[in-house]
Amino acid sequence: MKISRIDVFPLRLPMKQNFLITGGSVGGVDQGAPHVYVRVVDDQGVEGWGEARPSHRWSDETLESVVTTLRRYIAPALTGVDAEDLETVHRIMNREIKGALGIGQPIAKAAVDTALHDLIGKGRNVRLSGLWLGPFRDTLRLSYLISTPDPEEAAEKARHAREAGFRGVDVKIGLDPRRDVEVLEAVKAAAPDLFFRVDANQAYTLPQAVRLAKRMEALGVDVFEQPLPAGDLFGHAELRRKIHLPVALDESVWTPGDVIRAVRLGACDAIVVKCTKMGGLSGAKRCGEIAREAGLELLGGGLTESSLGLAASAHLFNYLGIETPVDLNGPFFLKEDPVREGPQILQGGTVRLPDRPGIGCRVEEADVERYLAE
Ligand SMILES: [Mg+2]
Repeated sequence: MKISRIDVFPLRLPMKQNFLITGGSVGGVDQGAPHVYVRVVDDQGVEGWGEARPSHRWSDETLESVVTTLRRYIAPALTGVDAEDLETVHRIMNREIKGALGIGQPIAKAAVDTALHDLIGKGRNVRLSGLWLGPFRDTLRLSYLISTPDPEEAAEKARHAREAGFRGVDVKIGLDPRRDVEVLEAVKAAAPDLFFRVDANQAYTLPQAVRLAKRMEALGVDVFEQPLPAGDLFGHAELRRKIHLPVALDESVWTPGDVIRAVRLGACDAIVVKCTKMGGLSGAKRCGEIAREAGLELLGGGLTESSLGLAASAHLFNYLGIETPVDLNGPFFLKEDPVREGPQILQGGTVRLPDRPGIGCRVEEADVERYLAE
């Protein structure tokens, strides 16, 4: 099974609502959302699909950078390589695009890694869980995302989440730091019994985070995600000594080395596993296993991937045994995507995974063409 072709499809998928994080808009109703679909075909004609969901407001990769990296550097270098040899595939990708401090364009590389997992699964007629020699669990719980600086709107969304049967909320703060506490109080009042994950996306200084954490402890927040800038592991370690709330790292943790440094410094209680920031399923699995063995909790997240990326991540989170509701919320923002047979999202945010080889999604090529961004 040699890689014979890698096709790269830059897409703008239609959104049904805007999405705002501390860094700014990561997609909106007017301009849609940047997604890149990748198809890898081997010399037997087996194909696998993967997805990258870059956002320049979250990290330093863009729709354009993913496309040029894959077309000009990665695809030519991987042609003829054994599609089942993921170690060599990553060695070549990391040689072509060398990281400075981290992996080097992990979101672009993740699309290839994910597509190869899909291809290998289809070639061997096994689901992703079969590749990892783990059990197949076909359901996973999603959290309900609340991202607004308006306490009334936050309360309304929390009420809706609870009534709809969700088990957890994921609240973005730092959008308007003066109103954070009001937003959190409104959510807690409306949904007192849901798992309460609060994500600051690096918005605070250490003194601000300490003050806010004290209020959050009293409110009953379950975990405080990425309060400080990504590079500040010492700050996160200091924060943990001053508060009694579990701290999770997301933007600070991209590689197995990052996980090990965070463990050595005592910088977190949990890490957020995300397939695309970690360079694909291979890297995310490794990071998750290291963190788990080091005694950290695992949270699941995504970068608002469509159903394809959601399904790939869901397989991994089930393999890793993540129990808290995960933040794979792309389909809540997207009007539609090119996946025709894929994961179903049921009442209460339960995902049902397709019981088919590989990732299990059927990508409709006509829809891929329809959403092309170029
Ligand atoms: Mg996060």
